[in-house]
Amino acid sequence: MRDDFLVFGAPLIGDEEIREVVSSLESGWLGTGPKVARFEADFAAYKGVSEKHVAAVNSCTAALHVSMVASGIGPGDEVITTPLTFAATVNAIVHAGATPVLADVDPLTMNIDPEAVAAAITPRTRAIMPVHFAGRSCDMQSLCALAERHDLMIIEDCAHAIETEYHGRRAGTWGDFGCFSFYVTKNVITGEGGMIVARNDEHIARAKVLALHGMSKDAWRRFSDEGHKHYFVVECGFKYNMMDLQAALGIHQLARVEQNWRLREAIWNRYQEAFADLPASRPAPSEPDTRHAYHLYTLLVGDDAPLSRDEMLDEMTRQSIGVGVHYLSIPEHPYYQERFGWRPEEYPNAMRIGRRTISLPLSPKLSERDIDDVIAATRSCLAPRTAASAAGA
Ligand SMILES: *Cc1c(COP(=O)(O)O)cnc(C)c1O
Repeated sequence: MRDDFLVFGAPLIGDEEIREVVSSLESGWLGTGPKVARFEADFAAYKGVSEKHVAAVNSCTAALHVSMVASGIGPGDEVITTPLTFAATVNAIVHAGATPVLADVDPLTMNIDPEAVAAAITPRTRAIMPVHFAGRSCDMQSLCALAERHDLMIIEDCAHAIETEYHGRRAGTWGDFGCFSFYVTKNVITGEGGMIVARNDEHIARAKVLALHGMSKDAWRRFSDEGHKHYFVVECGFKYNMMDLQAALGIHQLARVEQNWRLREAIWNRYQEAFADLPASRPAPSEPDTRHAYHLYTLLVGDDAPLSRDEMLDEMTRQSIGVGVHYLSIPEHPYYQERFGWRPEEYPNAMRIGRRTISLPLSPKLSERDIDDVIAATRSCLAPRTAASAAGA
């Protein structure tokens, strides 16, 4: 058994990132500036959209919040999202003053089920907020058709989906907005950070103003060598700007996004093969004409497994393998039960997944030995016990 703990989701940081951060520190310009502008341009190029249609912010939560405010969503409006997501997705809807409405997931893809969305639409519905769970694209064709029929916005939570594609188009460019995360465990990291991609000029212009105190265009330049220009506060915005220190990481992380994706794909394929005989469900194959971002590798622990999911979490940790749960369904949490009256049983697919799922390490930083250790530990938890192994042989 390994003695050093394998940290779940540890990022792979290169010398380029380290040098770029040091150069920011030495330059004295730490805050929003030229490196953020470069990271925005690089991200726009990666997504195949105009530089004018992206805005870097300090988290995906901020991106989701600002996207809703920028599109005029607020009190009295309903936004439909998935119960199988991180709390930030739902919290952002609450922060915008709108009412979250849940629609259950498909049990195989673990993504929001368009039929459940259709059933949840009311005259107050303004938007759908799909999450491309684990990096697998949602059924954007059905969701876009629903949005068109009912005149709804689509705000994609792309926290897992930087590399995701669906029918030849990149995730985050199907909806009115795409919101990305560069949190430490995500596929591209800046420590904390996020990005908004918007389809239309007014939306992105307002999002940019809202993300920096509501100050008029390019207010960050007020301390640059162009000299002081007056800015004007045009609405009450938020403090959501990204720093150059963060973008310094992102620029080089993004340059290696495809290389890291291939490393994760290879780990994913190793796991798929190594766990084929275990009493656990592996991720379903990708749908045709889509590209999976391989953000999370999740197993569903079966009824017939020797350990329960929670026992397996403890046992993996005991064997020095960091694991995750993505996610206990949103209605399992007391806040949402009390505020919205939700019960887990009302969203049975998300509930079942949330109670059985375990995420294994999938970082491009994993060494061959790390991967072998994850496989050995997982098999020790889930492989049916033979008489010999039960006797401790
Ligand atoms: C990580 C995550 C977020 C929040 O991202 P931050 O950048 O940490 O704000 C939102 N939604 C999902 C699905 C996530 O996994």
